[in-house]
This record gives sequence, structure tokens and C-alpha cells, in this order.
Amino acid sequence: MSIQENYNDIKNQLPSNVQLVAVSKTHPVLAIQEVYDLGQRVFGENKVQELTEKYPLLPKDIQWHLIGHLQTNKVKYIAEFIDTIQSVDSEKLISEINKEAAKHNRIIKVLLQVKIAEEESKFGLEIEEAENLFQKYMNGDFPNVEITGLMGMATFTDDKIQVKKEFLILKKLFDELNQLKKLETLSMGMSDDFPVAIESGANSVRVGSAIFGRRDYLK
Ligand SMILES: *Cc1c(COP(=O)(O)O)cnc(C)c1O
Repeated sequence: MSIQENYNDIKNQLPSNVQLVAVSKTHPVLAIQEVYDLGQRVFGENKVQELTEKYPLLPKDIQWHLIGHLQTNKVKYIAEFIDTIQSVDSEKLISEINKEAAKHNRIIKVLLQVKIAEEESKFGLEIEEAENLFQKYMNGDFPNVEITGLMGMATFTDDKIQVKKEFLILKKLFDELNQLKKLETLSMGMSDDFPVAIESGANSVRVGSAIFGRRDYLK
């Protein structure tokens, strides 16, 4: 299927309240422009270098989301233009984002990335760490950052029950923190598991290969 068919197919599967973040990592600027021309405005990249190369070549009304692990020393390269950093996984990182956002006189939206997968490899805060960090935020520690929600990745498995169980852990935390401050975004679900994520309460999904094609075909 073409990118256009893929995109329309995904859009048709998403309820109107669910935001689509089109994950364009590894895909060329032309492919991103094609999806932009179909009306998409929110795109996700996972590497700072790739994002800073693509950013100047694409329309300025794209809302860029950083979805991959972010090293503190790279925050400065994206602080001026990034819309949302979905992958906040430490206090050190949120402090740095706060500092860089202040330099540019802006407030950067972030999601706390929480570790929900059983797999060891995934980045993210433990539940308790996320609660503690959120509390510091509520106390006013990071005035140039707005925590707008949570992000999580489930274990890479075909076991839908396992995946759903993990997503529901994050939904529970989302509901808990949402009592303290109204949160907008629960980002869960990728090409292979977004329907389960939506069933579990996600209102934002990060879909790459189901739109742009499989990344390994391009390499
Ligand atoms: C690559 C990536 C995605 C998209 O994955 P697909 O399987 O291609 O849809 C979503 N979230 C994160 C954090 C990613 O790194």
C-alpha cells in the first residue's frame, strides 16, 4: 500500500479523540512532506541529530515530538522548537529541559515516560519515581516545563493480554495524577499494538511503520 493509503487506513481506525503522532524516524523528508500534505501536523522522531537535520527542511507548523531517549547534553539543540518531549525519564533531564526552555522564554510540554514493560531494555521511570517527580513539578520545581501526560511502551510480544495488562498499569497512574492536575495526554500504542492501547485508555498513539512502511526495507 502507498503512504497515502496507509495513512488514511490508520486515520480511519482512530476514534476522533485520539491524537496521531506520525513517527517518521529513518524516513526521508519527502515522505514526511507527503503525510503533511495529507493533513498530518504532529510528527515524532527519536534522535536529536536526525530531527535537527529534518526540521529546517519541513513546514514550520509541524508539531515535533521527541519520542526517544534524550541525553541531557542534547536538549539545547531542540529546545527552541520542540513541541513535546515524550521521553522524560529522569529528574536530571526534566531540570535540563526546564533550564533550556527558560533560555528561550518558553514552556516545553513533556510527558513522563514510565516503565511498564516486563522487558528489561526499556527506558522509563518506575511508577514511584514518576509520582515523586510529578509531586516536585506540582510544587513548582520546573516552571518552564508543563507535564501534559504520560508515555509508555508495552513489551514487544504478540500476547495481547500481557500488553493490555501493561497499558492498564499506566492508565491507572494517569487517572491518579489526573486528580492532582488535569492531564491531556496518555501516549501508548505503536503500529502493532495501538488498538489495544486505545482500548486501555490511550488518547495519543505513536505510529511509524504502519504509515511509512517498514524501516528495515529502507536500509
Ligand atoms: C519507533 C517508535 C514508535 C513507532 O513504532 P512503529 O512500530 O514503527 O509504529 C513509537 N514509539 C517509540 C518510542 C518509538 O521509538
